[in-house]
Amino acid sequence: MIHMDAEVTIIGAGVIGLAVAARLSRDISPVIVVEKHKKFGQETSSRNSEVIHSGIYYPKMSLKARLCLEGKKWLYQYCEQHDIPYRKCGKLIVACDESQVPQIQKIVQQATINGVTDARLIHHDELHELEPHVSGDFAAWFPTTGIIDSHAFMQSLERESISQGVEFAYAHEVTGIRPLRGGYEITVVQADDTPFSFTTAKVINASGLNAGKTAALAGISDKTYRQYFWKGEYFTLIHGKHKMISRLVYQAPEPDTTGLGIHTTPDTYGRMRLGPNAIYLESSIPEFSVDPSHAASFHESVRRFLPFIEPEDLTPDQAGVRPKLQKPGDPWKDFIIREERERGNPGFVNLLGIESPGLTASLSMANYIYRLLYKTNL
Ligand SMILES: Cc1cc2nc3c(=O)[nH]c(=O)nc-3n(C[C@H](O)[C@H](O)[C@H](O)COP(=O)(O)OP(=O)(O)OC[C@H]3O[C@@H](n4cnc5c(N)ncnc54)[C@H](O)[C@@H]3O)c2cc1C
Repeated sequence: MIHMDAEVTIIGAGVIGLAVAARLSRDISPVIVVEKHKKFGQETSSRNSEVIHSGIYYPKMSLKARLCLEGKKWLYQYCEQHDIPYRKCGKLIVACDESQVPQIQKIVQQATINGVTDARLIHHDELHELEPHVSGDFAAWFPTTGIIDSHAFMQSLERESISQGVEFAYAHEVTGIRPLRGGYEITVVQADDTPFSFTTAKVINASGLNAGKTAALAGISDKTYRQYFWKGEYFTLIHGKHKMISRLVYQAPEPDTTGLGIHTTPDTYGRMRLGPNAIYLESSIPEFSVDPSHAASFHESVRRFLPFIEPEDLTPDQAGVRPKLQKPGDPWKDFIIREERERGNPGFVNLLGIESPGLTASLSMANYIYRLLYKTNL
């Protein structure tokens, strides 16, 4: 047995790295998390809609469908057990006219195939009982979709990990990964640019937007690992309009939409945002600006089902960037979660394309990775 400094090194302290740290450290030690920022969750994990998704859109048996459904159940249990603010507010997908009814019927069918047992179509009266200010005659209703305080969730995962012995190396960036016999040598630099190296038996690449580059550091280059960046902007509802709605409300998606369409996003503190849109970034460097002039297109997107909103009720909020595996025009892609034994990198797990529903799926994804490394049957 070759002695390694760490049994597992997790690169990235977003929600996925934290969930993996909390899960692995129940059974495994020593576990180290290396994060280039000074704190956890400074990238995609703090720039999202904080929705606990139902798992309704994805093809049955895809990783997205399986991990989302299981993750949703575990996440609600976790919130209860650890006092994390959440609200099972439910989600409506509204058909603005008759032509959109087959679309929402199809979404309910797909949800039912995926094992979402409580999805159903509702009519005008029930819709208006739930949301009196929403315009529409039919909607698909998903009562178990919810929202979570993702910061409190990540804080709890960090606390749990530390109590189970995980060491967090914040403000350390991984700059080199060298395969060794029986493990890897990891090189990190600190803020003062001093490099140092340590050894680890296993590596989890949970570095989000950077995951393709991190895989390449270990010599793994695969064209299917290329991540494409899609920005999603948000606007906050002001002038008291946030009080006119309390649930997640979407319009039936346009057939060519890359995201889920602009929708209402309540948070656990009573704020309400609209978003996210989906802007393909040509550059491989993510950027997080919100263009105030996009208020007009946001208004246009929601005007039919949220007629009480005016353009001046929207003020720019934040933006997040999705690490997708598809560029415009490409077909749907699943998460990639792969142990690279077949490429000669045993114990090295790559995670790519961890876009939505990554937050919802985080706990089940962590367990999936534990089983991938330490059990054989998935
Ligand atoms: C606009 C938008 C809306 C979304 N809405 C939802 C939603 O409502 N519900 C849902 O379930 N999911 C949602 N998601 C998806 C969800 O946010 C992500 O799946 C999840 O946050 C991914 O977490 P992560 O840990 O993989 O990545 P990140 O949070 O990006 O974490 C990766 C970490 O790795 C670190 N890192 C990178 N390179 C290095 C290195 N070399 N050395 C050290 N550290 C490194 C980074 O600093 C970062 O902290 C949304 C995403 C976006 C963009």
